[in-house]
Amino acid sequence: MGGMEPPLILIVEDEKDIARFIELELQAEGYRTEVAHDGITGLSKFREVSPNLVILDLMLPVMDGIEVAKRIRKTSNVPILILTAKDRVEDKVAGLDAGADDYLTKPFDLRELTARVKALIRSAKRERERNPTTNLPGSTAVEDHVNLLLKQKASVAVLYLDLDHFEAYADAYGFRKADDV
Ligand code: CA
Repeated sequence: MGGMEPPLILIVEDEKDIARFIELELQAEGYRTEVAHDGITGLSKFREVSPNLVILDLMLPVMDGIEVAKRIRKTSNVPILILTAKDRVEDKVAGLDAGADDYLTKPFDLRELTARVKALIRSAKRERERNPTTNLPGSTAVEDHVNLLLKQKASVAVLYLDLDHFEAYADAYGFRKADDV
């Protein structure tokens, strides 16, 4: 995601009114949007635009949402929010098994959709900011948190720990040993 550009959301939904409805709501919230009306087009659009989140209807023409989710998951861990018309447990389970992160049952409230979109994008951002070795929040996340505390004029102490000559150790013994340390 380049700089300050707002997140891009791909909406794959064959019911054009619903797709438009979602699109307008998300644009009003400041997101960029792309829309596809069937599974195959959704998949090719996904590859073309690399969205930050996919809203995916399960019952789609040409290729259903489950198959689309499975294919997206082969190459990407982008958050996927599925929409299901039927309030049936097996649909939700199949969607989640296929790699979706969350689901909404139609008819849904647009405010709830927006809230879930925000939450998924937030947790994807936190995940990206995690240090892959320690699984602890990375430097960007730490900086954001400290900035937030400063803004709140909270009374805090910051303890900064560092290992001397760690780079030289990693150079000499390799990354695997360094990760173990
Ligand atoms: Ca549908």
